[in-house]
Amino acid sequence: MAAENGVSIVTKKRDGGVLGPAEIDAFVRGATDGSWADDQLTAMLKAICLRGMNEAETHALTLAMMRSGSVLELESIRAPKVDKHSTGGVGDKISLHLAPMVAACRVVVPMLSGRGLGHTGGTLDKLESIPEFKVEMSLDRFRAQLARIGVGIIGATADLAPADGKLYALRDVSATVASVPLICASILSKKLAEGIDALVLDVKFGEGAFMSDLASARELARLMVTVSNAAGVATRALLTRMDQPVGRAVGNALELAESIECLQGKGPSDTMELTLALGEQMLVLAGRSLSATEARKELLRVVQDGSAWEKFLGMVQAQEGSTEHVRHPSRLPQAAVQKSLKSQKNGFITAVHARRIAEVVHELGAGRTRAGDMIDPAVGISHLVKVGERIEAGGELCRVHAATSEAAGRANQQLETAFELGQEPVSSAPLVVEMIS
Ligand code: URA
Repeated sequence: MAAENGVSIVTKKRDGGVLGPAEIDAFVRGATDGSWADDQLTAMLKAICLRGMNEAETHALTLAMMRSGSVLELESIRAPKVDKHSTGGVGDKISLHLAPMVAACRVVVPMLSGRGLGHTGGTLDKLESIPEFKVEMSLDRFRAQLARIGVGIIGATADLAPADGKLYALRDVSATVASVPLICASILSKKLAEGIDALVLDVKFGEGAFMSDLASARELARLMVTVSNAAGVATRALLTRMDQPVGRAVGNALELAESIECLQGKGPSDTMELTLALGEQMLVLAGRSLSATEARKELLRVVQDGSAWEKFLGMVQAQEGSTEHVRHPSRLPQAAVQKSLKSQKNGFITAVHARRIAEVVHELGAGRTRAGDMIDPAVGISHLVKVGERIEAGGELCRVHAATSEAAGRANQQLETAFELGQEPVSSAPLVVEMIS
């Protein structure tokens, strides 16, 4: 019976029909209780991807996915509760250090994150490069951690947004990620289930993002801001450029190490710029700062005085990760082979193609091709040059971290098209382009 219903709902969307709330509820229930087979769920995801959803359908999908589990009850915690989420990019490790930085400013950050999705990496996979780090826990334990240290990062669970946990894994391996309604519902179902007061969204556009141009990112941002505000969560979105990777590292443990540098005041300038822009809005929405300028000072202060780093250590400890490994990042998983890619000529870097880099890192073993695949935390790329920098022939464009020398050699070849050089100096375009509130 459920299967027949499923077929007719999938058929309706496949043929371009508009689904009602009951049909959307049936799909989400099918994902949550297992009554729809994976093939049927994937067929529905494909139909949504190709046919789209209108605003009412997207709203209904978001709420149905949020209600697939419980909503975290955080009333007893008096501090403001604020989160941020990114629509996905390459080298986007911002959550790892931003969450403890904001928590060090006395704002509670209950973060529900995802794994790698499509060509982009996932916060949970990056955190799991820390030996023993747990991204699953009971809601009672998560609540107690938030009350005690003000920050935690976990995944969708059987209790919180379970429908997203299921659909996210299927989207990752079925080329059904780049869809406005699916991204909106995936992100907001998790965020609305967190019991937060406010939310800042990093909506990325460019070749390394799911939205390739500014106009479609703006459409996604407006929709998410509307749906989230309507659900009672004060929400702002920053539209940010994603053409070159964020920072100088792409890959799970390598990105974690870069986040640790950010917490110790040594992070790459573009990574810190984006972190501060998002953190400012979080503190302003939380009512902790009157202006973005005041918020920026506060965020820089908690990095300088070590309190953001202490929060991070507290979170790692509370989630059973090894603090020894984060205190000494050289003990994090290391790839067997490291190989530099050298520039053939002198010049200025005019492009570092994020999508190409992501594909190479995925092939090195940092991403999944089938749901449930194991990933290799150690592989990736570090020491990436940035647009605008000058390089001499023989200088390092990046360093590949691979499991074997064959994989490193293949990656180096594939990366030759990832960099472009010119003879004239260029400056990189500003990362934050617009705010939607
Ligand atoms: N992040 C999510 O959690 N879901 C998406 O669909 C994209 C980015």
